[in-house]
Amino acid sequence: MRYYSTNNKTLTVSLEQAVIQGLAPDGGLLLPEHIPALPAAFVRNMGSMSLHEISYAVANYALQGDIDAAVLKNAVADTLSFDLPLVHLGGNKYVLELFHGPTMSFKDIGTRFLARLLDHYNGRHRRNISVIVATSGNSGGAIAHSFSDIPEGQVYILYPRGELDDVQRAQFAALPCANVTAIEVNGSLADCRNLADQAFRDPDIGSRMIVNSARTVNVARLLPQMFHYFWAAAQLMQREQDPGQMVVAMPCGNLGNLTAGIMAKRMGLPVKRFVAVNNANDAFVRYLLTGDYVPHPMRRTATPAIDIAEPSNFTRIKALYGGSHFELCRDVEPYRCTDADVAEAMRRLWTEHSYEADPHTAAACAAVRACLLPGEVGVALATAHPAKFRAQVEAATGHSIKLPKRLAADLDAPRHVAVINSGYTSLKKFLLQRAY
Ligand SMILES: *Cc1c(COP(=O)(O)O)cnc(C)c1O
Repeated sequence: MRYYSTNNKTLTVSLEQAVIQGLAPDGGLLLPEHIPALPAAFVRNMGSMSLHEISYAVANYALQGDIDAAVLKNAVADTLSFDLPLVHLGGNKYVLELFHGPTMSFKDIGTRFLARLLDHYNGRHRRNISVIVATSGNSGGAIAHSFSDIPEGQVYILYPRGELDDVQRAQFAALPCANVTAIEVNGSLADCRNLADQAFRDPDIGSRMIVNSARTVNVARLLPQMFHYFWAAAQLMQREQDPGQMVVAMPCGNLGNLTAGIMAKRMGLPVKRFVAVNNANDAFVRYLLTGDYVPHPMRRTATPAIDIAEPSNFTRIKALYGGSHFELCRDVEPYRCTDADVAEAMRRLWTEHSYEADPHTAAACAAVRACLLPGEVGVALATAHPAKFRAQVEAATGHSIKLPKRLAADLDAPRHVAVINSGYTSLKKFLLQRAY
């Protein structure tokens, strides 16, 4: 399978190049040249298959033999070392919990798969792959943990001093692994992103190591996000519900999760439609409503993981529909929520269903509640564990949340942090000292 650039359909790369480089050589996003359809019999029988069986079959079809079957099977099993349960809220409403991985956000799924593919290619070439990430929260922890048992990959997590909460910081700074380095930058998130970008462009760095951004746009992060849609459909089949009536709502930031859902539908996922949820950072929702794409500056909200002004997968989604706003709107319905809507949804989920939802999950649940038509089955994607946003959930519900052992252990462990200033020379010196 070749992957083409959204800037130029005739520019294609292999899966290996796509995974290692992340972006197309011309800076475009990468998409598979075709999306293979799964056999109808497979889709009909999913209700009697396990999460690993379904996910491996989806991956194998999607990649068309580009990765050896045994390697791929292991990568899928290692990625999904935790369950993705479909929780019944009541009536025709469900929540698909994607947050039972090591860092308790759904980002674990994409980053664990990416880490395993990078490790596979790394092993073949014996080159050093260094992952450099600027994080404002969940992605740093997910990426650090994903590489914690892959010692050949060096991971550098850049984060702005004073901007992350303690749980988020602990998830990468308290890891006792020599290959993960937390770097506190005396500057802003924008400074961290700048530093990472400069390192990617610096030929002195490029000649010593292969640098990877592990960004959400990497096809290796996108692909495994298809698994959970099929698993939601399979779990509905187990409960004798018709997955063809399934409406899936998700909190949308960079639109990776939605992109994967759309690709899953092309592969044969039975689903009626998707509901894309934005907060005040609503460039995508406004595009769905009006056909005009007009990003505004980022605003801070109560759902910080989706405070994204310009979603990086937007051009990918447009390319998947050949630029047709009409066709996109047949598959995706827009929903916008305010901070007050989110707090109200957290309160209602607790009082009516005894369900603790983090703000992002609550936003998806609010969308299901508002958009579901009679006869449809609603599935809200739960993207973070409520304990990751404990203060907000407690304030909305008046009920105290227990910190899971995993998060408590991270909080108690000693931190290992290097501190640099926001000038590029300090990062460069740091990286080159480490290159071997
Ligand atoms: C990253 C993230 C999202 C947004 O997912 P995208 O694929 O970027 O749209 C939603 N919720 C949580 C908790 C996240 O960490």
